Amino acid sequence: MKIKSIKAYEVLDSRGNPTVKVVLKTEKHIVAASVPSGKSKGAYEAVELRDGNKKRFSGLGIRKAVKNVNEIIAKKIIGTDCRKQQKIDNLMLMLDGTQRKSRLGANAILAVSIAVCKAGAKAEERPLFEYIAELSSCKKPAIPRIYANLINGGMHAETKLSFQEFLAVPKAKGMKGIEQIHSVYYDIKSTLKKQRLSTSVGDEGGFTPNICNDEALRILHLSAKKIDKKIQLALDVAASSRFKSGYYFIPEKTSSANLLEQYKNYIKKYKLLSIEDPFAEQDLGAWQKAIKVLNCMLVGDDLTATNPKRIELAKKLNLCNALLIKPNQIGTITETILAANLAKKFKWPIIISHRSGDTCDSFIADLAVGLSAFGIKIGAPCRGERTAKYNRLIEIEQELR
Ligand code: PEP
Ligand code: MG
Repeated sequence: MKIKSIKAYEVLDSRGNPTVKVVLKTEKHIVAASVPSGKSKGAYEAVELRDGNKKRFSGLGIRKAVKNVNEIIAKKIIGTDCRKQQKIDNLMLMLDGTQRKSRLGANAILAVSIAVCKAGAKAEERPLFEYIAELSSCKKPAIPRIYANLINGGMHAETKLSFQEFLAVPKAKGMKGIEQIHSVYYDIKSTLKKQRLSTSVGDEGGFTPNICNDEALRILHLSAKKIDKKIQLALDVAASSRFKSGYYFIPEKTSSANLLEQYKNYIKKYKLLSIEDPFAEQDLGAWQKAIKVLNCMLVGDDLTATNPKRIELAKKLNLCNALLIKPNQIGTITETILAANLAKKFKWPIIISHRSGDTCDSFIADLAVGLSAFGIKIGAPCRGERTAKYNRLIEIEQELR
């Protein structure tokens, strides 16, 4: 099924910042895709092209990226069969020609790549998750566990809370798990209210009380335990954004050795399922020590940046044992699948993730199911761009019945 037209334009993400939307038409179908944007970004991520013109959207406009889709990418791929995902992605990589997609912008490239993937599924008359499973040679699509970020700190909140994410991860999947997340979320809310703490929400829909890490974990633990003892807890420290001159500021100046002791205590006390980015992307020695002594999953996010080369390095140096996957860290669906399959080869659980600035595009729900991912990280069950992913998971669960 040939691609007939591709049109990109600016829309707003959940922070009100511009992002790329692409509408792609084939001989028979119309599909659309829009891309998210992170705040605690890793140094190894592909480049999100922004205009930098302070007079528009504080420099965050993406007219250049839009122009790159409409004037460079579209011209080359119109007329190609939309089922040729790899061919189209490789063509865009060639057109870009840089290491980190700085010429065309990973935001421009990914929006097209996702739209092509959606069009391919339509052309094959198959659900998107099934089509992704086929693209990635995954034999059995499956519903992932949900990593629900119920208390937001770090760069996603304006508080003193220094760890970025406090997550509840039910063992139960699908609607049963979502029911539990809802119960934990509202139990936390009532605890905060009783303590006269803020129940405002942060970038990912979790609450933003002005408390310390210990207290946030304690509140999350108490609420989760009340609902179901099988609900596990996880953290995303996003430590790269707290690392300066060899020390971590969380919030006080802390050495990596001291931070490691804190993690040991939290794991012992709360039996944490996983800690994401416990150390900074450049503090490799700290990761190496941690993996030997911490008895939980250590998830690479900034560390690995969904980049096959970084993932190979992490394996070689024994830095982490689980992988976060964010398509916009690398910029094409083909490379995202490559990263996921590499992690699978290493027997690392994979967790597909949204970004703190996101849209109502629910593509990652299909991606997680199609890749048969261990987990999917989609924030709290609050804010439209987060519930769009929850609702697509619910839909897929129905389709799989
Ligand atoms: C994360 O760090 O895992 C995250 C989702 O945040 P951001 O999108 O701001 O990088
Ligand atoms: Mg992270």
